[in-house]
Amino acid sequence: MATLAPSTRNGRRLAFVEQPQQLSDTFNRAITYMRISVTDRCNLRCVYCMPEEGMPWLERQHVLTYEEIAHIIRAAAELGVRRLRITGGEPLIRRDLPRLVAMLRAIPDIEDLALSTNGLLLPEQAEALKDAGLTRVNVSLDTLRPERFRDIARRDGLDKVLAALEAAERYGFHPIKINCVVMRGKNDDELADLARLTIERPWHMRFIEIMPLEGSVEDQTAWYMPADEILDRVRSIAALEPTEGPTGNGPARYYRFPSGKGTVGVISPLSHNYCDRCNRVRLTADGQLRLCLFGDNQIDLRTPLRGGATIEDLQRIFRRAMRIKPERHHLQPGQTSAALIALSQTGG
Ligand code: SAM
Ligand code: SF4
Repeated sequence: MATLAPSTRNGRRLAFVEQPQQLSDTFNRAITYMRISVTDRCNLRCVYCMPEEGMPWLERQHVLTYEEIAHIIRAAAELGVRRLRITGGEPLIRRDLPRLVAMLRAIPDIEDLALSTNGLLLPEQAEALKDAGLTRVNVSLDTLRPERFRDIARRDGLDKVLAALEAAERYGFHPIKINCVVMRGKNDDELADLARLTIERPWHMRFIEIMPLEGSVEDQTAWYMPADEILDRVRSIAALEPTEGPTGNGPARYYRFPSGKGTVGVISPLSHNYCDRCNRVRLTADGQLRLCLFGDNQIDLRTPLRGGATIEDLQRIFRRAMRIKPERHHLQPGQTSAALIALSQTGG
């Protein structure tokens, strides 16, 4: 439903013009942030994300084109979505991603355009992405040891990830966030070393509690380490003081070492639920609007889109979707979810 808002010029009220109503869900949370998955495929096989073999990849004709994505985002931007994050799978394996970046940048009201990447292809694409209008990047880094990287990602590539961080700094992406999925017994002995990077570099190291996405329940339970324990490990280097995050706090809580140029954050979907502040939805690579990372609430946008849906038609679907955005997720450590596995299959 559209609302009427007064239009003014030189302070004089001229007429009423139609403004689409801003998106908010049934719990009064305004939706201002959208994650856009551009592919379900990846050049790594991280143990917590996807199996080594046997992924049922999306058929290519089901993956949204850049034009289709831009059409959806135009509709969302008019409803108040301001911040976008391009993700995957690995978004940089999709051909000519700078073209999509430029298209999204050109949409009025989009204020922030970020990318989540494993970094492998960033050194060669950083310049084109910057020129196209990408503002910032999150790079995944779970370890500083090459052989351990191979164990976790099931492929080589640590040197490229480190080069990606350097390239991100060189081309002026700001801020640079690093995501590390913490796994007890796999990389928890490196938390202090990873956090130490933030003393010398203006990087924002974010430790993420592992979520039950892939693998056996036993592995997930054994690897899970709660955020408070992660922080205790990091405090073994030096005291941490709470601080504001580089782009506000979002789902993370941020700290810094007194002498640090960057920050250390923890993202704790399981131990400190942040759903009450949720402002986000996600678009899967095959055009499903997911209302929550965890769970199967979703609405199909691809079918109406390919049937000729206008911006207004899509906006009606967005508003309808708000009714099924859940108040919170109900995941527990050690519990896997079929919906989550489906999520990874459609591009997380
Ligand atoms: N391929 C890109 C990357 O790795 O950054 C973007 C997609 S990836 C799905 C986005 C983020 O989700 C990464 O930081 C990754 O580490 C994180 N992630 C994937 N599986 C996870 C899990 N089971 N628990 C917690 N975080 C996970
Ligand atoms: Fe690929 Fe990112 Fe998943 Fe790792 S976390 S397998 S890099 S999509």
